[in-house]
Amino acid sequence: METKTPFKEIIEEIKEAGGDAYRLCYQCGICDVVCPWNNVRNFSIRKIIREAAFGLTEIESDDIWRCTTCGTCPEKCPRGVDQIELGVSLRRLATNYNVFAASAGGVKAARGSLTTEGNPLNEERAKRADWAKDLSVKPFTEGTEVLFFGCCYLSYDSRMKKVAMATVDILNKAGVDFGILGTKESCCGESIRKAGDEEVFKGLARENIKTFIDNGVKKIVVSSPHCYETFKKEYSEFMVNFEVVHMSQFLLELIKGGRLKITGKYGKKVTYHDPCYLGRHNGIYDEPREILYNIPGLTLNEMASTRNNSLCCGGGGGRVWMETPKGERFSDLRLEQVRAVGAEVLVTACPYCITMFEDSRLTLELDDVLEIKDITEIVQEVM
Ligand code: SF4
Ligand code: SF4
Repeated sequence: METKTPFKEIIEEIKEAGGDAYRLCYQCGICDVVCPWNNVRNFSIRKIIREAAFGLTEIESDDIWRCTTCGTCPEKCPRGVDQIELGVSLRRLATNYNVFAASAGGVKAARGSLTTEGNPLNEERAKRADWAKDLSVKPFTEGTEVLFFGCCYLSYDSRMKKVAMATVDILNKAGVDFGILGTKESCCGESIRKAGDEEVFKGLARENIKTFIDNGVKKIVVSSPHCYETFKKEYSEFMVNFEVVHMSQFLLELIKGGRLKITGKYGKKVTYHDPCYLGRHNGIYDEPREILYNIPGLTLNEMASTRNNSLCCGGGGGRVWMETPKGERFSDLRLEQVRAVGAEVLVTACPYCITMFEDSRLTLELDDVLEIKDITEIVQEVM
């Protein structure tokens, strides 16, 4: 395929995004060995790094859109190369040139919706708080202790709205003083940034930061590990600092502090999937497990790939908006691992993971034998 981009420019772009880290790569190939793509098809991030170092990247290629930013290869690289940042810089370049491979069409659509409506799902901003209409949820005002930031999926997606409702139920029962910002919220911007659109990310981040400051937000509880990552690590680039807590951490805090009582039993075999942005990216492995250990009757069977070796669901890095052909879905492989440990329920703590797994559950016709649950839904059932 013809290389349309000037070599020098790619090299400069890479330098800007990842410094000189790619120079450290000595082509050992460990990143390719650990990358989940190589369970389903050939894909070489090592080769992409090599080509980028020489300015030979084909920005028209599907391959630059493949990395789910799962975080496995940066953990294993003996030379400390940041493959994710290098990959994102290539997408940034492709976005600047408005060159999108056929597989990345969903990113373009998400970008349009994020720009006009503040969410990637082509939904109206005016309807962002509709899920909470019949619930006891107050608008966040100055002095409220906690902002519950539910994310775009919990606000609009019919499956994920159940998680939003379970969360509200739990927060109310625990007597937490919380509120939502509803139509004033925008997408956190994590995935569009990883998909290479820095401009859209910055616009969303500035809108949210202004809203948080104008409304006196100090503590934010999030359901999505992607919001957690962005609010905690990326919004600080704008010289702000909010206390950010993932719902799995908050739940454990409520249970340990005696504010949330577990009264029921959960007599099922479950397994827990570590979402990439909760586990590998943020080191939150123990809190969700501790919650599950606190539930009487629940049997937790761990899968072969767990904690920092967890198998990615396939939805990060903007891939949740892209179509992945059957036979190449990591979520299908993950459900095989779930079945192998005899679990009746797959528990996780991320809206992207749930979306990917629910899709696989349907296409693999496992609806009768397997449930997919967010950890809040399990807790709601036993309190
Ligand atoms: S693991 Fe690191 S050093 Fe080895 S090929 Fe990959 S990026 Fe290069
Ligand atoms: S971050 Fe994950 S998906 Fe991306 S190249 Fe590395 S191992 Fe593969």
